[in-house]
Amino acid sequence: MTRIAIYPGSFDPITNGHLDVIERATRLFDQIIVAIAENESKEPLFTLKEREQMAAAAIHRWKNVSVDHFPGLLVDYAAKRKACAIVRGLRAVSDFEFEFQMALMNRNLNPDIETIFLMPKDEYSYLSSRIIKEIVRLGGNIDGFVPPSVGELLVQKLRSK
Ligand code: ADP
Repeated sequence: MTRIAIYPGSFDPITNGHLDVIERATRLFDQIIVAIAENESKEPLFTLKEREQMAAAAIHRWKNVSVDHFPGLLVDYAAKRKACAIVRGLRAVSDFEFEFQMALMNRNLNPDIETIFLMPKDEYSYLSSRIIKEIVRLGGNIDGFVPPSVGELLVQKLRSK
């Protein structure tokens, strides 16, 4: 049986923290689908298409990782893709409460799909897409936190304003 995992999120944009989680997941599953949520209440900086393109370029190095997007409920999408698991990253205790609630609600909606949590390298444990955007807006250096091409797009988008 092919073991498929979904790694859902907004990926606005994808960071080296996300990539660290993906790499860990590639050692556990046969196939990983990075799935970008379409119904976004967070008013993303990048369009869905831009986020998808950045993620696709960043995951190119792994043969068993692909990028997709989904509308509606995550568990419905996971079932459609025949996934056995949802992967989420856990950075700190602050992530825990929200993730715990989501995992238990998703289990309630579909008991066949397991949520698993992976911890990134400690140097990425304080990294988020939100903080990266803030640093770029304020003129700081984000080398080492996002793939170089993502860094360039961030600068273009945020500093041209
Ligand atoms: P969401 O809007 O669903 O939180 P994100 O794109 O912000 O989407 O994150 C997707 C997943 O990746 C979440 O599980 C989040 O906790 C995790 N994540 C984000 N940044 C990191 C990081 N630096 N290290 C590990 N996991 C991370």
